[in-house]
Amino acid sequence: MLELCNLGKRYGAVWAVRNLNLKLKKGEVFSFLGPNGAGKTTTLKMVAGVLFPTEGKILIDGIDVNEEPEKAKKLTGYIPDVPFLYPQLTGREFLHLVGRIYGMTKKKIENSIEYWKERLEIGEWIDLPSSEYSHGMRQKIVFTQALMHEPLLLIIDEPMVGLDPKSARIVKNIFRELASKGKTVFLSTHTLSVAEEVSDRIGIIEKGRLVAAGTLDELRERYKREGKNLEEIYLEITERSEG
Ligand code: ATP
Repeated sequence: MLELCNLGKRYGAVWAVRNLNLKLKKGEVFSFLGPNGAGKTTTLKMVAGVLFPTEGKILIDGIDVNEEPEKAKKLTGYIPDVPFLYPQLTGREFLHLVGRIYGMTKKKIENSIEYWKERLEIGEWIDLPSSEYSHGMRQKIVFTQALMHEPLLLIIDEPMVGLDPKSARIVKNIFRELASKGKTVFLSTHTLSVAEEVSDRIGIIEKGRLVAAGTLDELRERYKREGKNLEEIYLEITERSEG
C-alpha cells in the first residue's frame, strides 16, 4: 500500500533520513519510534507530500507522491505534529473548507462532520472560532479533517498529544477499526504503550536510518528478549545502535 524506496532527505550537510526502505500493507497499523531528531517527522512529511525528498521515491497504492501529488494526497489523511487551524474560522467552517478542497459535496461534508463529531465527542464548540480551542479540541478537529474523505492511508505525527484519556482511547479504537477496514495507519510516537497497544508492526529509526522493523514478537525474537515489553526492547535497540 505504501512503499518507501531508498528514501532520503538532506538538510544542508545533514542527512535527516537516509536509504529508508519500507513497505506498509493494507490493513496495517505501523508505528515509527526513535529518539528526538531521528527523522520521524521528516519521513512522515515526505509521505504526506509536504516535503520533497532529496532522493528515492514514495508510492501510495502505486502512485508516486512526487510525480502525481494531487492524486496521492486524495488517498491520504495527514495529522502533523503541529496542527494548523485558521484561528478566525470555526472548526465547522474549517472542515467545510477542507472537504471542498477534497472535492466532497456539501451533503457529504455535513454527514462526515456529524459522524466524526459524535465519534470524537466534539461538542458544540465546533461552532466557536478555533482561536478559542484547547490543544485537545484542535487535535479533534484535525483528526476529523484527516479522516473525513475516507483516506486509504492515515499519517499521524504524535497522535495522543493533548488528548484526555477517554479521547485517547477513542482514537486508539479508531486506528484498529480503520485497519480492520483495510486502511493503513502510519504513526510516529514517543508513547511506547500506544505503539505496543495499537501496532501490527513497529519500526525504529535512529539518525535517519531504520535500525529495526517487525512485529513485537519478531523484535523480541531478534533481540532475544522473550517476554520483554516494548520499552525494554526499544532501549536495548537504541543503545546498541548508539554504541
Ligand atoms: P522528534 O522526536 O524530536 O520530533 P524526529 O525524529 O521527528 O524528532 P525530525 O524532525 O525528522 O526528527 O528531524 C531529523 C533531523 O533533521 C534532525 O537532525 C533535525 O535537526 C533536522 N531537521 C529537521 N527539520 C529541519 C529543517 N527544516 N532544517 C534543517 N534541519 C532540519
